[in-house]
Amino acid sequence: MRPRVIARGVELFAARTPTLPPATHTNSYAIGEREVALVEPATPYDDERRAFLAWARAFPSQGRRLVALLLTHHHADHVGGAELFARELGLPIWAHAATADRLPHLPVARRLEEGESIALGGAIPQRWTALHTPGHAPGHLCFHEASQRIAIVGDMVASVGTILIEPTDGDMIAYLAQLDRLARLDADMALPAHGDPIAEDGGAGRRPAELFRFYIAHRLGREAKIVAALAMAGAEGATSAALVPTAYADTSPLLWPLARLSLEAHLIKLARDGRARRVGDGWASAG
Ligand SMILES: [Zn+2]
Repeated sequence: MRPRVIARGVELFAARTPTLPPATHTNSYAIGEREVALVEPATPYDDERRAFLAWARAFPSQGRRLVALLLTHHHADHVGGAELFARELGLPIWAHAATADRLPHLPVARRLEEGESIALGGAIPQRWTALHTPGHAPGHLCFHEASQRIAIVGDMVASVGTILIEPTDGDMIAYLAQLDRLARLDADMALPAHGDPIAEDGGAGRRPAELFRFYIAHRLGREAKIVAALAMAGAEGATSAALVPTAYADTSPLLWPLARLSLEAHLIKLARDGRARRVGDGWASAG
């Protein structure tokens, strides 16, 4: 089952991580035919770390050379193995500055910026472009290989589980703008951190652009429910906790604690859009 070859010079290795249920694993990817970079050094569990290291250590016997560990963002279910793998494999860690700043214990050797390219040599050389895609996390990076039409998309979308946009790390306006940008890449395949590859003929059975647009529509649909809940709360408004049962009436109450965080991220967006305002410790309609 693992590793799984996804495309020429792209392998997937799913490892168990403490991630948000129903997801149970985070996908790591090895990219490059001869020079190989490992994306998402995720797992903090000893048995899974041993399996990851065995996978990584097999590349040299195939005439391939490891060059770096790449982070998509700073969340614990994405970087749990970073320190150990960097040390054991003798690899530098590359990440966005906003990710490096949030992981002061990690030695980040290269701060990747928007538009930087990562060239990986091989019979078919690959050139991955780092895309800074904040919204889920401030330093979130995706990696796009234009000639193979593949994008590694981290936690921008998932084919298992949901993507949480919360008010501290998250930014709903940025998230929606970056989803739109990813849709416009029109990649043939998107590789998320959780779940199967997204491709017409892959596990998810649809084109990446379709899924990105579905995510945008889904968030805007939720936003409409929040706007309606605010309208019902009237001029005196309501706290985010009080808005949840109305705005998330279609969602299991078990999920409401997380829903509340997402709702707050929406409220911050609505305030910036001039459609909501703070009233005491709650929120009311505006505009
Ligand atoms: Zn995340």
